[in-house]
Amino acid sequence: MIDSLVPRSDFPLLATHPILRYLDSAATSQKPRAVIDAISNYYETVNANPHRGAYALSAAATEAYQHSRDGIATFLGVADTDTLIFTRGTTESLNLVAATWGRTNVRAGDRVVVTRMEHHANFVPWQQLCLAAGAEFRIAELTPLGEIDMPGLAALITPNTKIVAFGHVSNALGTINDIATIAQLAHAVGAVAVCDGAQAVPHIAVTFDSLGVDFYAFSGHKMLGPMGIGGLVSSRAILDTMPPYQMGGDMIAMVGDAQTSWNVLPHKFEAGTPNVEGAVGLAAAVEYLSDVGLSRIHAHEMALVDMAMRMLGELPGVRVLGPPSERRSGVVSFVVDGVHPHDLSQLLDADSIAVRAGHHCAQPLMRASGVPATTRASFYLYNSEADVTALVTAVERASRKLAH
Ligand code: PLP
Repeated sequence: MIDSLVPRSDFPLLATHPILRYLDSAATSQKPRAVIDAISNYYETVNANPHRGAYALSAAATEAYQHSRDGIATFLGVADTDTLIFTRGTTESLNLVAATWGRTNVRAGDRVVVTRMEHHANFVPWQQLCLAAGAEFRIAELTPLGEIDMPGLAALITPNTKIVAFGHVSNALGTINDIATIAQLAHAVGAVAVCDGAQAVPHIAVTFDSLGVDFYAFSGHKMLGPMGIGGLVSSRAILDTMPPYQMGGDMIAMVGDAQTSWNVLPHKFEAGTPNVEGAVGLAAAVEYLSDVGLSRIHAHEMALVDMAMRMLGELPGVRVLGPPSERRSGVVSFVVDGVHPHDLSQLLDADSIAVRAGHHCAQPLMRASGVPATTRASFYLYNSEADVTALVTAVERASRKLAH
């Protein structure tokens, strides 16, 4: 019997909803008491606008913000803490790269390559950048198992390629990609490698400094932290060449009547009052994750995913999409013959099972897979074998009721 890796009671929402089977952590994770307490404590004892006041409380807020950045950078294996830029999350991080590095470096006749499995956040910014610049936008296709067709990708990365953008882990299929090899292919033609780590950082150990990618984006709310905070990691050599993303307070060194100069990293990319509450909460989240251990979390999810894939696959009319469990993270996407995922998820909800149904912000992938939508169950450290068996039992019952 696989028990949850951590007590459900660590998560106030799960304690408040004792019969809920929360299988939608790929959309957002639940928050442990430690994160909620860290945020409350910040507001009760430290809150002030950082970087601006000469008084002690403002200095304490600055210190809390910096301390949080240090902890999160350590968790991500980033030695140069100033190269971790806080953003609202993966979407903003990727838009930042497209708007700054992209607009500066991508010209008519250049090429940007993405993959068929990208979340819209790592697809639309590049598509629109190419449309604006008159550059070519190319999509690397997938194998029938939902993995990147590597020879196909390699063939698309031509000498005029400036950016190769790819996910570390697919939110729709759970596929874990060989990002080091993709980064090497990009670097071989002088392109930058942009990696969407939204579904990786919460589930597998990530050491940015040894990944070989140039940009790495992630979201706090998928890794036990609060919504509205996430980050972008890059190298100082690259960040120093980029223009700022937004203009305003904190990101300037000196504002003249005619010209302005920029602050040092990371402030150059963090205009306006920062999300200190978010940073403090995310720092508490990575502490919680580190205490449990990412390798244990990944092993736990693989065991649950393996079981779910096997049991769902044995149900009549059910097809699980994506690669075998050993090459995926905690996501199981499936379709049931003759049953719309929305109808299925509503019946599962009546059994207190929360799953996601839809295109998972991956319409290009759904089109190529020949399905308009899937039902997606995603697992995390607070899920257990009982969640898997409840899901499979409920899917079986619902499919019998809905199939026609
Ligand atoms: N990329 C992937 C793979 C995701 O799963 C998500 C969120 O579902 C995003 C990007 C966007 O993340 P956010 O909405 O936190 O910016």
